[in-house]
Amino acid sequence: MAVEDSMVQVMVRVRPPTPRELESQRWPVVQVVDERVLVFDPEEPDGSLKWGVTHDGPKKKGKGLTFVFDRVFGEKATQQDVFQHTTSRILDSFLQGYNCSVFAYGATGAGKTHTMLGKEGDPGIMYLTTMELYKRFEAFQEEKQFEVLISYLEVYNEQIHDLLEPKGPLIIREDPDKGVMVQGLSFHQPASAEQLLKMLTRGNHNRTQHPTDANATSSRSHAIFQIFVKQQDRVPGLTQALQVAKMSLIDLAGSERASSTHAKGERLREGANINRSLLALINVLNALVDAKGRKSHVPYRDSKLTRLLKDSIGGNCRTVMIAAISPSSLSYEDTYNTLKYADRAKEI
Ligand code: ADP
Ligand code: MG
Repeated sequence: MAVEDSMVQVMVRVRPPTPRELESQRWPVVQVVDERVLVFDPEEPDGSLKWGVTHDGPKKKGKGLTFVFDRVFGEKATQQDVFQHTTSRILDSFLQGYNCSVFAYGATGAGKTHTMLGKEGDPGIMYLTTMELYKRFEAFQEEKQFEVLISYLEVYNEQIHDLLEPKGPLIIREDPDKGVMVQGLSFHQPASAEQLLKMLTRGNHNRTQHPTDANATSSRSHAIFQIFVKQQDRVPGLTQALQVAKMSLIDLAGSERASSTHAKGERLREGANINRSLLALINVLNALVDAKGRKSHVPYRDSKLTRLLKDSIGGNCRTVMIAAISPSSLSYEDTYNTLKYADRAKEI
């Protein structure tokens, strides 16, 4: 099957080492071989593996494993490279009316937010996708009428919050015609690129972040940016079928196990709930792996995240999973777990 045809594409992005990783006597454990292959903790590292001091400790779990993905992005990949080979490739399907979803999966600090949101002067997939859609609509303005609406919400502690117009927790409704809806969620039509950037920044600022033992800025919330597109052919005197589709771009909470953060009390409950949404997502993807096109039970109802995305994963939907990893031996376990998980998701 051609890459563009498969329902779920799995990609890996290796971020550059942080200054701390470079300084702390650590070494890289990810070797990008080419645009589809990487080796985890290679037995015979090539010249590209250097910084810090190399340790020859006891053989660890996962050492020397080779992985093949739909795409592997090395540390030099730009936001534009990542966009071009991920979301950009499913935009045609999206414009034909298929719901799409793009997930950034990985441990805290692995590069999820950088990939999805980006930073000032270097915006990520959320921004690049919206701008590309505007560009395409402009090109077809004569033939079609388009309406684009965006929303931005988070799932935190199994509650849904509007990130653009913060208010009390919102509830999910399933409308037989419109599909999954969040009641009271605000929708926006940014008038310019600048306004869109401001919205994204403001939304991200409104995300719930709590310091934890593991990482002071660890994010325990799932941020979901959605683009709704309504299109209709401009044919005088004819009532044309209306086409509606949504694209969900998701910055998932950190995938590291809550147990490793020595969480207690409030943090623990939070941790348990994050695991509920993240585990439910993993279970949904696992069920899709096992189903392989056959009808079988997919447990969408087990969490807020999976209920929200029920009409955006599986079925005719196109999904891209971007597994973000650190290159450093400091994150050995997390990287191994992320690669193992991404490898399984490939089977869908
Ligand atoms: P996560 O959202 O997975 O916790 P972040 O996206 O916040 O991780 O990334 C952690 C740090 O690494 C941030 O300072 C971020 O700016 C930086 N970073 C991540 N990916 C890249 C990249 N591809 N290029 C440059 N810096 C990156
Ligand atoms: Mg983040």
